Amino acid sequence: MADRKFRMSSGGNPRGVSAREPDPLQSFRELIEKRKKNNKRAVRLRLLPEKHEEEILFDIGLASVRLWNELNYEKRKLFFRDSLTPEKRAEINRKYYHKYKKVLGVNAGQIIDKNEETWESFFELLKMKRQRRLPSHISKISPPGYWKDRITGKKKIHILIRNDRYYLEPISDGEGRLILKDFKLSIRYVGRIRWEGKQGRLEIIYEANRWFAYIPIEVGEKSSKSNLKGYIKPSYKDKKNRIFNPKSIKQRDPVGDKKAFIDIGLNNLFAIVVSDGSALLVKGGSIKSEYYWWKREISTYQAVRDLLRNAEIHKWVEYHEKYLKALYKRNERLRHLYRTAIRFLAEMLWSRGVEKIYIGYPIMLSQNNGNEYNTNIWWYRKIILWMIDVFIEYGIDIEIIPEDHTSIECSICGEIHKNGRIYRGLYVCRKTNKKINADINAALNIARKIGYKIIISRKIESYLITHNGVKSLTPRQRANTRDPEVRNPAL
Ligand SMILES: [Zn+2]
Repeated sequence: MADRKFRMSSGGNPRGVSAREPDPLQSFRELIEKRKKNNKRAVRLRLLPEKHEEEILFDIGLASVRLWNELNYEKRKLFFRDSLTPEKRAEINRKYYHKYKKVLGVNAGQIIDKNEETWESFFELLKMKRQRRLPSHISKISPPGYWKDRITGKKKIHILIRNDRYYLEPISDGEGRLILKDFKLSIRYVGRIRWEGKQGRLEIIYEANRWFAYIPIEVGEKSSKSNLKGYIKPSYKDKKNRIFNPKSIKQRDPVGDKKAFIDIGLNNLFAIVVSDGSALLVKGGSIKSEYYWWKREISTYQAVRDLLRNAEIHKWVEYHEKYLKALYKRNERLRHLYRTAIRFLAEMLWSRGVEKIYIGYPIMLSQNNGNEYNTNIWWYRKIILWMIDVFIEYGIDIEIIPEDHTSIECSICGEIHKNGRIYRGLYVCRKTNKKINADINAALNIARKIGYKIIISRKIESYLITHNGVKSLTPRQRANTRDPEVRNPAL
């Protein structure tokens, strides 16, 4: 069944991957196909409640957390006794709905729904495990946990509001009020909204001492007659990000039929070869140094925390807070850099007439350090999912290609030179002695894997991602035959 599906989706492609072998990427591919069709976009707004409003938010939040934790406790108890039947779940849900309805109104049902969704996906994973279909990066699955910090036991504030129990009142570009009908609250928000459509379940989260509202929008979808106010409109004209029609995810059509092959890495965030023979490097710049800086920061706090905790010195809680804050900051900063890079890449490839991109996905990374591998894969998957969201706006299709040894294979002669990758990102063909940029070599191998033989005919263009945007590192000059880099174009 699974095999047939895979063969159908890759029909007509000249790829060398056997359809009989189980596809290690199958579940991720399914996720990707779903994501491509997804017409939802999430808006994130920063909430700026007044002191008395914040107290009310905390009250609602704590009630929500208690509801989740209590109901989850009962379900877990039954689960570990092997007697969590659908009937039992429904019974528990009813009981707690009535208990919390007084405080949370119909929004109590939203927490129960979310809890049910979480249990459903847990059971789905269990099923995949039984069928040996579990993705390789998932090593351990466990039933839904509590809304609390695993280490301190401190409650994690989440508030869920039904789609018809709130609305936004914009005041100006990027500012307005969030009205929570059941709690008579009108809270100031700041943030930009790029899309237009029907609003979904609102989620309010308290993280790193800030309040954020997450609103899912079904782009282009009309609101229901019973909830006319439940419709989000864009708050500003987004010139930079080129949203022409906020009611549609797809903003443009491709202007050509070129293909691009992309290797994702840490030094070169993207190494790209295009079927017209051009090659580009998008350098991560500060991404790598930030990544390692935060990694050190995070592990230091973690170490101090554990040391103090083992010595039963209460100050450890402080270090735990610092640790959480560092994790949060790392993710925020990297997220910003990655998203800048992805937007830039989409714009750039679209303007050159690319209609489809193929992204290499590493399969063999897992031998070394399990933890590091999991973090890397987590980022990889995140980046690829972000890429889908953005490239779909440009009408560019995406496919992932399993990369087993694209980094040691030689794109020049096709052999594997175990010692091909040398210093400073260079790859040397041991047969012809030609040198090539190692990441471009990997991108060329992705192309070769599915039957494209590309010869790099131009000098590599380089770009650098910074917190203030993208800088070109290639001086604008015409090719010169005496330029050694042109004679050796893929260097
Ligand atoms: Zn070679």
